Amino acid sequence: MDKLIYLDNAATTSVLPAVVDEMIPYFTDGFGNPSSLYEFGQRARAAITDARVRIAAHLGVDAPEVYFTGSGTESDNWALKETAFAYQDKGRHIITSSIEHHAVSHTCAWLEKRGFEVTYLPVDAEGIVSVHSLVDALRDDTTLVSVILANNEIGTIQPIKELAEAAHARGALFHTDAVQAVAHLPVNAAELGVDMLSASAHKFHGPKGVGLLYIKKGVKTRSFMDGGAQERKRRAGTENVPGIMGMAKALDLGMADLASRAAHDQELRDRLIDRVLAEVEHVRLNGHRTQRLPGNANFSFEFVEGESLLLTLEQKGILASSGSACASGSLDPSHVLLAIGLPHEIAHGSLRLSLGEETTAADIDYTVEAIKEVVVRLRAMSPLYEDFVKGRKPISAVK
Ligand SMILES: *Cc1c(COP(=O)(O)O)cnc(C)c1O
Repeated sequence: MDKLIYLDNAATTSVLPAVVDEMIPYFTDGFGNPSSLYEFGQRARAAITDARVRIAAHLGVDAPEVYFTGSGTESDNWALKETAFAYQDKGRHIITSSIEHHAVSHTCAWLEKRGFEVTYLPVDAEGIVSVHSLVDALRDDTTLVSVILANNEIGTIQPIKELAEAAHARGALFHTDAVQAVAHLPVNAAELGVDMLSASAHKFHGPKGVGLLYIKKGVKTRSFMDGGAQERKRRAGTENVPGIMGMAKALDLGMADLASRAAHDQELRDRLIDRVLAEVEHVRLNGHRTQRLPGNANFSFEFVEGESLLLTLEQKGILASSGSACASGSLDPSHVLLAIGLPHEIAHGSLRLSLGEETTAADIDYTVEAIKEVVVRLRAMSPLYEDFVKGRKPISAVK
């Protein structure tokens, strides 16, 4: 099997050839620094100005409200840390969800160490944050609420518009991490009514190492980087001109055929989910059945170790992701899976498959057959499964 079946688009996506073509001139003939006053630099300035206008139009906001950053992680850090400090005279209470990406949750932990108080909203069994829980958690000293738009692990889509309205009703600002959502769902920051929104190019077929933060006009944030006057003096550092041009092109392309790509991903996602649930025993789908990213499927297989599943699938040419943070060197199950109520043992047997426009129906069918075979093989080696077959209850029933 030479062909790789790449089902890890939530981790990163391929850079489209048209995006690479767009970037190359800014490495070669047009390498000027946008801050240089001569015409050669000003051409680079004009290019990123045009990119900013196009990106802003896609997000439904004004160009001066779009700030270029070095990653989605940076955008999240900036949004949370610098608004927390900018508004600390009003209060030091922040609200977030219990299923944020680490770029938000670890930033909240950092703020807690510096005297801020953070409330982590629970989610229901399908991974949805309720507006009521936010209303109950809001206080007079709450300055900021941050809730992820679409979850990177289980794909659930949150009621951001309603959550932002609730935050505003109590005078708090609202940030959303839209890194998984932009160019996969119709994301219009103005319609959502958010004050800040993070995105990252490499999650929508753009280059790695470039992201953006939308900051609504009038929102105070402290500058995230001190130095030159770039990004209206709020984020110093010479602009990543090729990266920004690639991000704008990737967004142009992503928005142009958004509906047809989403329909393609969703059809294959549903084929995958329906077949796995019907053809594999003792498996559950994590996340909401329909209110989820078009390309996201996340399963827990009882009596199976996620890492073993992942490695065995890799031998068959299938690249996916598991439910534990093994990449960080720990085997703790994901906080997202625990937040939706999975017991540790079940969370450990989780597999995320994230589809993209390159995925075909044949890839899905091959993957389902591989999962069936691998799950049977791994269960045959599991003492827990042996106990179960001999008449003990499944783990999920004894939680
Ligand atoms: C990937 C991701 C990030 C981090 O973006 P980077 O550009 O890789 O730093 C943040 N939030 C979510 C939801 C993501 O999926």
